[in-house]
Amino acid sequence: MEREGFSNDQVDQVLGHLFSGLAVFYAEICEWLIDADLSQRFLADGARTLPEWVSARFGLRHSTAAQLVRVARRLQDLPRLREMFATGELSLDQTDAISKLVSPETEEAVIEECLGLSNAALDRAARRANPPSTAEEREAWRERWLSIQYTLDGIRAHMNADLPGVEMSLVESAIRERADRMPPNPDSGIFDPYPQRMADGLVELSTTTGDEHASGPTQIVVHADLDALIESSETGVAEVQGGPVIANETARRLSCDPLVECAVYDHTKVLGIGRRSRLIPAWLRHQLWHRDGGCQFPGCGTRNFVQAHHRTHWADGGPTDLDNLILLCGYHHRFLHEHGWVIEDDGCRKHVFRRSDGQIYPPIRPRLDPRLRVLVGQRT
Ligand SMILES: [Zn+2]
Ligand SMILES: [Zn+2]
Repeated sequence: MEREGFSNDQVDQVLGHLFSGLAVFYAEICEWLIDADLSQRFLADGARTLPEWVSARFGLRHSTAAQLVRVARRLQDLPRLREMFATGELSLDQTDAISKLVSPETEEAVIEECLGLSNAALDRAARRANPPSTAEEREAWRERWLSIQYTLDGIRAHMNADLPGVEMSLVESAIRERADRMPPNPDSGIFDPYPQRMADGLVELSTTTGDEHASGPTQIVVHADLDALIESSETGVAEVQGGPVIANETARRLSCDPLVECAVYDHTKVLGIGRRSRLIPAWLRHQLWHRDGGCQFPGCGTRNFVQAHHRTHWADGGPTDLDNLILLCGYHHRFLHEHGWVIEDDGCRKHVFRRSDGQIYPPIRPRLDPRLRVLVGQRT
């Protein structure tokens, strides 16, 4: 379709309203799904569950259908979230993640904190708010498997596995550690794409000798609240760095092993080394990874080649403390220096990005334009 003659701002605005409209449609669908849920009409169509019916009836992926039904059911008790979804201020994915974080009592305050967070950050917060139980960890372990299948001619083979998240983190960290050290391809002189280096890392992992392994054991880092490590405690959260949230009992098991580095938080200290050095010690780098989990530039989240950026530069008196550091990938790190972007703290959100022209990025989503509401035809 011809789109010439529109300024960037107009395109931006139109897309903003279309996405708001999409959210309004989804919100409206959720309302009707509750009716379908109550009437159980899906049983008559041979579906066992509502998501199964929605998926079959309307041609959605099962995961999308399940997400819509999940959101519809949760919104029943969350009037403020329901309203923001219905006005198009929050997308389906945002509404889904925030609905896992709030209760009817905490709704107002938590939504405020969530606005402006990336979807990756919201999903992670939701995972931390709903850690797995010991029984679920046991179940994941019981159902572990790995299979290797060769093609008939034996030229290629596929490997598939299903492991508990913690064990897969160990495998992943060992492969990544080797992938990160792979030299450039000697034929091309440049680095192969990362997935290919991961494959090389796996092969190298399998061909290194025991001696080599003993000198540099694979490490995962577990970040645990002090509470989570106290026997039969139900509070506190434990998480593998760059990996899953784990049951408290699993965290206790891992913290017994001296090869697993365990960072324990008591939530009372300022973390950092202040003005002593601009170099970031390994333990502080781990805490930074734990907090950010990847590049914090809106929409990025990459975990490869990230760098720690001092928000107030070391040369301008900025301390090497967690509060003054943020992870950015190499590409986006330039935006904060050469391209004049800044990161601000608006009191509610820690990392608000502002473009060099002074605009906040990403901009706040518009409510659906009342003139477009006719198209959506909301029920009253
Ligand atoms: Zn920097
Ligand atoms: Zn980035």
